[in-house]
Amino acid sequence: MLIDNFNRTHDYLRISLTDACNFRCLYCMPSEQMKFMPAKQLMQVDEIETIARIFVDLGVKKIRLTGGEPLVRKDAKDIIEKICLLPVELTLTTNCVLVDEFIQVFKKAGIESVNVSLDTLIPEKFNKLTKRNLFEKVWSNIQLLIEEGFHVKVNMVVMKGVNDNEILDFIEWTKNQHVHVRFIEFMPFDKNQWNSSKVFSYQEILNLVETQYNFIKIKDKPNATAKKYKPLNHRGTFAVISTMSAPFCHNCNRMRLTADGKMKNCLFSKGEADILTALRNREDIVPIIKKCIGQKEKALGGQFDSDFHNIDINKIDNRSMIRIGG
Ligand code: SAM
Ligand code: SF4
Repeated sequence: MLIDNFNRTHDYLRISLTDACNFRCLYCMPSEQMKFMPAKQLMQVDEIETIARIFVDLGVKKIRLTGGEPLVRKDAKDIIEKICLLPVELTLTTNCVLVDEFIQVFKKAGIESVNVSLDTLIPEKFNKLTKRNLFEKVWSNIQLLIEEGFHVKVNMVVMKGVNDNEILDFIEWTKNQHVHVRFIEFMPFDKNQWNSSKVFSYQEILNLVETQYNFIKIKDKPNATAKKYKPLNHRGTFAVISTMSAPFCHNCNRMRLTADGKMKNCLFSKGEADILTALRNREDIVPIIKKCIGQKEKALGGQFDSDFHNIDINKIDNRSMIRIGG
């Protein structure tokens, strides 16, 4: 078992398959021209499988595949087919563009729940945010996932003055469709133009939703990052991921593996453990994993305090979100 110095058991691994993406979301990528990692720098299929198996032996029960966009990787199908054989709950996060090509792969792999990203319901705004004209494709693929019976969670990164005026439209969506919207507070990463005035907080979201809807709190899973609510008489639910205004580090069970095989014990950790190089050198990676967990900070990677208004993004030492894996 992977237990850190704060008695938190780590049984959930998020594996980034690539730092490449078919979108260019402003809040995720550095604004300058981004160079993706060369293929040989990425973990190969058998390496991902070996590393994942070792984490499973250490107690991991859930694996999420992410990126970048995990489905742009040419061998994404092979990776899914290998990881699904491990005794874990397998899931993934995707921008949904390629989902129609993967629906049978997901089903065969026993994937039941998929997180998709959608920050606006307005096609023109979608083009601006992602720099790609693919709203209709994403929308039809979300519908496909729902029709095919997947548990669909829609991640919406709320940015003040950008899409906070659509929060109620997203809630309205949950009225007739079995869809689970998750409003994510905008987080600071390398060169993503974050500042505290762009954060639309958990409390602001609840206050806004309250003006139009009656809703109740529903029970969250033990290590949940999202605080879940159910609007009365709606088929779906909504939730808030309040990383900035109400962090949930006290019961964190998550670890991350970047596409180039570096382990991060926290989304905001400065340090990384080079698992892939060790594996390629035929070293035992178990002590490296354990040491990395032993170095986990109590909260927020030790990089900022819980009042997000005090954060100076220039003092945060981290990768961009797209290079970490969300
Ligand atoms: N490409 C996939 C997608 O977009 O769903 C998976 C990778 S993406 C990095 C994973 C999640 O991180 C997405 O839901 C995205 O909206 C979220 N994300 C990216 N940058 C973020 C930021 N600065 N603050 C909050 N969430 C962010
Ligand atoms: Fe790509 Fe997802 Fe980042 Fe958007 S949020 S740039 S889709 S990895």
